[in-house]
Amino acid sequence: MPLLMELRNEVARYAKKMYTSRLVRATQGNLSARDVASGLICITPSGTDYETLSAEDIVVVDETGQVVEGRWQPSIETPLHTLILQQRRDIHCVMHTHSPYATISGVLYEPIAMVLAESALCLGGEVPIAPYQRSGSREFAELVAKTLGHHMAVIWGNHGAMVVGPDLPRTFSIAHALEDSAQIYFLARLLGTPHLLPPEEVEQLHRFWLAEYRQKPIEQHA
Ligand SMILES: [Zn+2]
Repeated sequence: MPLLMELRNEVARYAKKMYTSRLVRATQGNLSARDVASGLICITPSGTDYETLSAEDIVVVDETGQVVEGRWQPSIETPLHTLILQQRRDIHCVMHTHSPYATISGVLYEPIAMVLAESALCLGGEVPIAPYQRSGSREFAELVAKTLGHHMAVIWGNHGAMVVGPDLPRTFSIAHALEDSAQIYFLARLLGTPHLLPPEEVEQLHRFWLAEYRQKPIEQHA
């Protein structure tokens, strides 16, 4: 019996949702989820073909990135996913996207200001931006993990975005909240001067959101 088929199926399903909702195009991006009971990580394969992706294509690795089961090579960003999952015990999913408006933040090197309540809830403030470095190496993994810190999202300079979350549905929502707030913020700037949410309101909204998700037990295969 293959390992963790239920979670692998969910990773494949959400990876396809990343693709169909245009957070990524072609074979871009990657997605991982931790099985809380075993600590094993299910991650999309290198060069993912989203249209044909199935549970069997998802690779199971341990926390050091060693392949435990899978017919393909895991994503080239596996060192980054495993490092973040090692460092952040409060989250179990890592999603890397190339969503265009969030990427604009990493091209201008200007943070996305908090202009929408929905984004303030899950992002809790300006999203940090990691300086450009070629991805796929241990050094890059350390840079991004350090820039992410305790945040729920990080922009990769001249590249894309990464979000983390407690489970697949909420990680997917955070990726969209990030993209929506970037789109609204940068378009609003073209038309006028955006009004920002007061920092204390952002902080309070984020605190509610964290309390809500930390109260709910993480489902095994959420
Ligand atoms: Zn990328």
